[in-house]
Amino acid sequence: MPNPQTDTAPSPRSAIVIGAGPSGLMAAEILADRGVRVDLYDSMPSPGRKFLLAGKGGLNLTHSEPLGSFLPRYGARAGRFQSLLSEFGPSDLRAWAKTLGIETFVGSSGRVFPEEMKAAPLLRSWLRRLRAKGIRLLVRHRWLGWDEQERLRFASPAGETAAKADAVVLALGGVSWPNLGSDGRWVKILEQHGIGVSPVKPANCGFDLDWSERFAKVFAGHRLGTIELEFEGRTVRGEITLTETGMEGGCVYTLSAALRDAIEANGIAMATLDLLPDWTEAKVLDMLQRPRGSKSLSTFLKKVLGLEPVTIALLRELLPPESLNNPLLLAAEIKALPLPLMRTRPVEEAISTAGGIRFEDLDDHLMLKALPGVFVAGEMLDWEAPTGGYLLTGCFATGRRAGLGAAGWANK
Ligand SMILES: Cc1cc2nc3c(=O)[nH]c(=O)nc-3n(C[C@H](O)[C@H](O)[C@H](O)COP(=O)(O)OP(=O)(O)OC[C@H]3O[C@@H](n4cnc5c(N)ncnc54)[C@H](O)[C@@H]3O)c2cc1C
Repeated sequence: MPNPQTDTAPSPRSAIVIGAGPSGLMAAEILADRGVRVDLYDSMPSPGRKFLLAGKGGLNLTHSEPLGSFLPRYGARAGRFQSLLSEFGPSDLRAWAKTLGIETFVGSSGRVFPEEMKAAPLLRSWLRRLRAKGIRLLVRHRWLGWDEQERLRFASPAGETAAKADAVVLALGGVSWPNLGSDGRWVKILEQHGIGVSPVKPANCGFDLDWSERFAKVFAGHRLGTIELEFEGRTVRGEITLTETGMEGGCVYTLSAALRDAIEANGIAMATLDLLPDWTEAKVLDMLQRPRGSKSLSTFLKKVLGLEPVTIALLRELLPPESLNNPLLLAAEIKALPLPLMRTRPVEEAISTAGGIRFEDLDDHLMLKALPGVFVAGEMLDWEAPTGGYLLTGCFATGRRAGLGAAGWANK
């Protein structure tokens, strides 16, 4: 009969996961489920800070559209994500959330949210489960790279420490919102080890239009209601929020990759805005040709077209007086107002990051070919997707794949 006191069981294999965002937490859980002892490190005082922020305005976990529409959201990386999402796709993600006691629902736009909308209940429940699985969380530990003995170096409140494990998962995030932990310092470390990192760029970001000081002062923070933004033949309906320097919001984010690339190539991106998408140009013109009497232009536009003061101010900001006073020109501009976008907002302000570790430098398990036993996941990889739940879905799917790879490596 085996005696637990004297019989020595083989010591479990070990893994270190660095980065306690959604992708790192997923990798850690997968490893623990496969019997690997996991230490999870993060530089911040608590895990999942960006995930919690993502939940502030309603945590959009994933999207309910069929995979055929879902996959193209990953653009040039759709092929890679086909395989990743076939293992852990949108419906698997919803089922997984349910195992944490989090019910999800499909909003009117097809986006999927937890019933409570926030990230905190999901994260709380998940961390409880990870602790129960024996995962050790070491916060305030900033990863610095490797030492000569190939140990991982960490700066901690107690000074520099080093650690080694059978497998390593790096899930250090992109470079946006660095105050939440993902500051991109890993780029230099990995480049020094010969890893190819595509230049990191803002994704799902706002743009600068260089408003006049007066316009910016009065209208920053104002919203343009239902409009359609068009660029290079793609049209997105939604809302836009004006900022001190330009604009942001759902439809700007949706087109942001194309707008960013056009600015990079040409120094400017000319988008157009349909301010009355439910009206034909002929109907707008018909209304503009009605007698104006002694009314000011603003009063007239409000009366005949129902335009808000912010919309009228935008027309005044962007159009020369001759367009404003010519019904034919004005009708055309209201249906296709040219928006000269000059710059992206800095990557630090973006929702997410494009660029990162090249897939060509990874094997199918997301292991770095140049660093056997080191796996990578999440936003630090070279992919991008619009908002709509595609980012988190991608992070969970890559976290799972890297966790499986690391478990296979540690247990071999
Ligand atoms: C305002 C906002 C709203 C968003 N809303 C949504 C949404 O509704 N739906 C959606 O799909 N996506 C959303 N996102 C994007 C989503 O939050 C990210 O894509 C996701 O968090 C990335 O996960 P990750 O695990 O790759 O990285 P992160 O969540 O950034 O986690 C990386 C972790 O690594 C740690 N770290 C970094 N460097 C080191 C180091 N050197 N040593 C130790 N630890 C380190 C960081 O502290 C951090 O905890 C939103 C993002 C923002 C900013």
